[in-house]
Amino acid sequence: MKTLILTADQTDQAAQIIKKGGLVAMPTETVYGLAADAFNGEAVASIFKAKGRPMDNPLIVHISSLDQIGSIVREFPEKARALAESFWPGPLTIILPKSDNIPIEVSAGLDTVAVRFPSHPVAKKLIAASCPLAAPSANLSGSPSPTTAAHVISDMNGRIDAIIDGGDCLVGVESTVITLACEPPRILRPGGITAEQIEKVIGHIEIDKAVTNPLEEGQQAASPGMKYKHYSPKAEVILLDGDDEAFEKYINETGDDRTAALCYNGQQDRLDCICLPIGEKGDYTAYAHNLFSSLREADEKGCTRVYAHCPETSGVGLAVYNRVIRAAGFKTVKL
Ligand code: AMP
Ligand code: MG
Repeated sequence: MKTLILTADQTDQAAQIIKKGGLVAMPTETVYGLAADAFNGEAVASIFKAKGRPMDNPLIVHISSLDQIGSIVREFPEKARALAESFWPGPLTIILPKSDNIPIEVSAGLDTVAVRFPSHPVAKKLIAASCPLAAPSANLSGSPSPTTAAHVISDMNGRIDAIIDGGDCLVGVESTVITLACEPPRILRPGGITAEQIEKVIGHIEIDKAVTNPLEEGQQAASPGMKYKHYSPKAEVILLDGDDEAFEKYINETGDDRTAALCYNGQQDRLDCICLPIGEKGDYTAYAHNLFSSLREADEKGCTRVYAHCPETSGVGLAVYNRVIRAAGFKTVKL
């Protein structure tokens, strides 16, 4: 299949492709999404095929207006309303009981559905010109999520109908996923909207254990996506847990000319390896923004190993930790 590369003002052409059951990669404020008509089970099934995604990993339905919510969920409780008012449009996904209109391919057989109202103008325009869109990240399953159209082309060229090039994604990691299908509500995946921000709006919430820990043998995943190896470049990723000095010493002692390090601005001078700067020291918003593109860059540079500093687990740091620990397959060296 020939994949069309469209510009941000060609959303009407992309909407025609969606309406015919095709697949379009679209920019969102988190990462690029691979979109299909959320009510067309056959089109949604082809997303799984194009990505090589396991069929038991459900998708998020993206809307462009609160009027669309009634066709997607059975209930929209007070807490959902409060979250929507505070954080939509934006990088927050809410899980609620699903309506019968939602095909089994979207929910992967669960009785719930994940919904998000993205803030990216191109995503909003595409949804408004077509319909609610089921969309996971537009990468091959397991690899780092795409934050530029070039990343999508690298994974998906020839596998999907079109890619809308909307430039660089602002947040850089996927949305925060919270389930309201249990009490207290629980964060299944951390993202750009933090647990601290959410608690200010709806009070006490829990954070699923799988956010920071590997699932134990036989344990059921509350969020099926959490059980798969994820976000990994070809290079081996290793998390280093210690202070800056120990981080630099360990890399300089163990690295070679195919070793890369995700470092903060200015740290390059003290590192004897391929440096991939990800922002100012302690700036986790910048770490989130640059994480996936840096992991892809390590592969482009032929690196075989990438060292990353263990992020803090509060605020946006928790989203970074959740991604980088999975990219590392939970390999951490305590310094
Ligand atoms: P992605 O599409 O790659 O951004 O991933 C979507 C995430 O949301 C995955 O981790 C899914 O497992 C999770 N998810 C989607 N729908 C549900 C649901 N109904 N219940 C629990 N987790 C869900
Ligand atoms: Mg994904």
